[in-house]
Amino acid sequence: MDRYLSEQHLALRARVADFAREAVAPVARELDATSTFPWENVKAMGEMGLLGLPIPEEYGGQGLDYTSYILVVEEMAKVDASHAITISAHTTLGSGPILQFGNEEQKQRYLPWLAKGEVLGGFGLTEPGAGSDSGGTRTRAVRQGDHYVINGSKIFITHAGVGEIFTVTAVTDPDKGTKGISSFVVTKPTIDIPRCEALGMGHRPDIGYMDGVQSGKKEDKMGWRASDTRELLLQDVEVPAENRLGEEGRGFINFMKTLDAGRIGIAALSLGLAEGAFEAALRYTTGREQFGRKVWDFQQVQFPMADMATEIQAARHLTYHAAWLKDQGRPFSTEAAMAKLYASELAMRATLKAIQLMGGAGYSDEYPVERMARDAKVCEIGEGTSEVQRLVIARHLLREELKATAA
Ligand SMILES: Cc1cc2nc3c(=O)[nH]c(=O)nc-3n(C[C@H](O)[C@H](O)[C@H](O)COP(=O)(O)OP(=O)(O)OC[C@H]3O[C@@H](n4cnc5c(N)ncnc54)[C@H](O)[C@@H]3O)c2cc1C
Repeated sequence: MDRYLSEQHLALRARVADFAREAVAPVARELDATSTFPWENVKAMGEMGLLGLPIPEEYGGQGLDYTSYILVVEEMAKVDASHAITISAHTTLGSGPILQFGNEEQKQRYLPWLAKGEVLGGFGLTEPGAGSDSGGTRTRAVRQGDHYVINGSKIFITHAGVGEIFTVTAVTDPDKGTKGISSFVVTKPTIDIPRCEALGMGHRPDIGYMDGVQSGKKEDKMGWRASDTRELLLQDVEVPAENRLGEEGRGFINFMKTLDAGRIGIAALSLGLAEGAFEAALRYTTGREQFGRKVWDFQQVQFPMADMATEIQAARHLTYHAAWLKDQGRPFSTEAAMAKLYASELAMRATLKAIQLMGGAGYSDEYPVERMARDAKVCEIGEGTSEVQRLVIARHLLREELKATAA
C-alpha cells in the first residue's frame, strides 16, 4: 500500500490505533449492550483532531487529505464500528455539504464548530417515502420573504439526537422533480445538554437554534448500537434564506455528490470490520486446540482465512484507490460505489466466517466478532444499498459503452 500511504499517513494511523486500543476497546462491548453514545471518547476524538481531518485549517480543521480520513475510519472500525461511523457521518455527511457547497459566510460560521468537534453534525436526506428513491423527497420549503418555512420528516438520521447542525433537503419547486430540491442548514440543541455542559463539548447555544427542529425516538438497531440514529422532525421551521446551501434546485445533485464521498468512508469502515474480524479469528484459531492440535492446523480453517486475507487486500486496494482519485481531484463516483459494494459485502462474509471459525466463542459477546457481524450488516444498506451501488456501477458501464460505440 506504499503507493497510497506516506510517513504522515502511517503516523496518524498508529496514533488512532493506540487510541482505539486504549480508550475504545475496553468500553465497546458495554456501549453496544446498553446502546450508549460515547460522549467521553467523542470529546477525545475532537481534541485529537479526528472530527475535522479533511477540513482546511482556515476553518478549524486539520487540512489533511481524504486518504488520512479514510485511514482513521478504517482503523477505528477494526475495534468499534459505532465510533467509526460517528467520525464518518460527522465528517462527510455533517460537514461535507457545507464545505463543498456552502458560501464563504456559511463555511466561516458553521465549519469551525464542526471541525473542532465542538458540536456534532448530520445529514437529512432519507424520508419515510424516500429511501433509495431519495428524489421522492416530500419535505417542503416555501419561501416567505427573507426566509423559508420548512415542514417534513427525515428518518434514520445519524446524530439526529446528539447533533446540533444538519444539512437537509427540501422541495422548493414541486414542478421540477429532482431539480426542484434544495438544501438548507438547520440547527437544534443536542438532547444531552447537561452531559455536554459537564463535558464542555457538544452544545453551543451561540449557534442560534431554530424553533421546530426536533429529534424523535431513538432507533433500537441490530448494529451500530452506540451510534445515535433518530427521526429529524421539521415543523414550521423558519430558516433564513442565507442558510440555503447553493442555488435553489441544486440540493439533490449536491447531496448525491456528498454520498459519493461518503461511500468511500463506508468502504473504509467495512474494511476495518473485516480486518478486525480476521485478526480475532487468526488469534483464536492459532491458539485454540482440539483433537490434540491447534485448530489452525486444519486446512479447512487455513483456506477460508487465506481467502479472507486475499479479499481484504482487494478491498483495501479498491478503497484506497477511490480515496486517492478524490485526493487527485479526479472523478471517483464509480470507484467509490465499487469500493463500498465490495467492502461492505466482504465485511458481512468475513465477520460471519470469523464467527464460524471461532465456534461458540465467536457467537458469544465475550469476543467482538458477533458485534462486528451485526455492525457489518448496515454497511450494505446505509449511504445507498448494495443494489443501488450496482445501479450506479451499471449506469457507468452503459455510459462508457455508449461513448465507445459513438466514437
Ligand atoms: C443505521 C442507519 C443510519 C442511517 N443514517 C442516515 C443519515 O444519517 N442520513 C440519511 O439521510 N439517511 C440515513 N440512513 C438511511 C439509509 O441511507 C437508507 O436506509 C438507505 O438509503 C435505504 O433506504 P430505505 O431504508 O428506505 O430502503 P428502500 O429504499 O425501501 O429499499 C428496500 C429494498 O429495496 C431495494 N431497492 C430499492 N430500490 C431499488 C432499485 N431501484 N433496484 C433494486 N433494488 C432496489 C433496496 O436495495 C432494498 O433492498 C441510515 C440508515 C440506517 C439503517
